[in-house]
Amino acid sequence: MNPIVIAHRGACAYLPEHTLPCVAAAHALGADYIEQDIVLSRDGVPMVLHDIYLESTTDVAQQFPERGRDDGRFYAIDFDLTELKSLSVHERVDPQAHPVFDGRFPVVDLQLRIPTLSEEIILIEGLNKSRGMSTGYYIEMKSPAFHTAAGLDIAKSTIKVLETAQLHYENAPIFFQCFDPETLRYLKHDLQSPLPLIQLVGDNSWEEPPGVDFDLMRSASGLDNVATYADGIGPWVPQLFEADGVTPSQLVGAAHARGLLVHAYTLRADSLEGQFKTFEALHRGVFLDAGIDGVFSDFPDITREFIGSHFNQGGISS
Ligand code: CA
Repeated sequence: MNPIVIAHRGACAYLPEHTLPCVAAAHALGADYIEQDIVLSRDGVPMVLHDIYLESTTDVAQQFPERGRDDGRFYAIDFDLTELKSLSVHERVDPQAHPVFDGRFPVVDLQLRIPTLSEEIILIEGLNKSRGMSTGYYIEMKSPAFHTAAGLDIAKSTIKVLETAQLHYENAPIFFQCFDPETLRYLKHDLQSPLPLIQLVGDNSWEEPPGVDFDLMRSASGLDNVATYADGIGPWVPQLFEADGVTPSQLVGAAHARGLLVHAYTLRADSLEGQFKTFEALHRGVFLDAGIDGVFSDFPDITREFIGSHFNQGGISS
């Protein structure tokens, strides 16, 4: 099998992340899968949104200045669907209101909206029909414990949307991904989801989620454990390499030995992971040296082109 291209938050190098134009671009640029990050509204609707906060990608602070919490942040879960739909989405900015990526789409008000998962499914299914494609979904449940504490079940709510769209079946073109092992086990054992599960592997310093030891998870016994409930791992690109940032680590081989897929995050031409000097070298490092099965890319067209020129249907050709 050729490695897969997962459009990270859509084709977010080119348009504001997770907006429908960004998703349409990802589809047109040749992504095999398009990523959806899911956060629930106060009324429990799965929205496609990367942060549990709203201020980095919307005009929430202008429209609802009194609705921030004591920490100064505006939480999506404090707003119902109608309110979230009134927000205008823009390119991501940092706390000082500077663009996170200078060379990307400008920070302007185009009246783009936060899509619901249902709306995004309508768009992707429509494009699959009109373009004769079968682009899939790569769905991350964000901060499940945070939602549980608010009395909401993000896994169940997400599955309900997929069931309504008749997409929750074995071999549907969908992966579920989560940093929280408990949620993946809940999906498999309690909710009996037939969809493949990817255990995202973070860095312990991020404390997301708190209490999960990702160093242990990458060890032999940790991977044995992951293989009992997941179909693959989603490591951070630097974890694919030794401390020098270019020599492949044992991780991919150890995962493959346990039958686990490896889909790493994230390839960005304007923010290179590891110690690679060019985007091309980074692509060579992850695909040809480390040997991963897929990658999240902000630039799905460039990653598509790399795979097209280096792999045949059966594997590496050059
Ligand atoms: Ca994600």
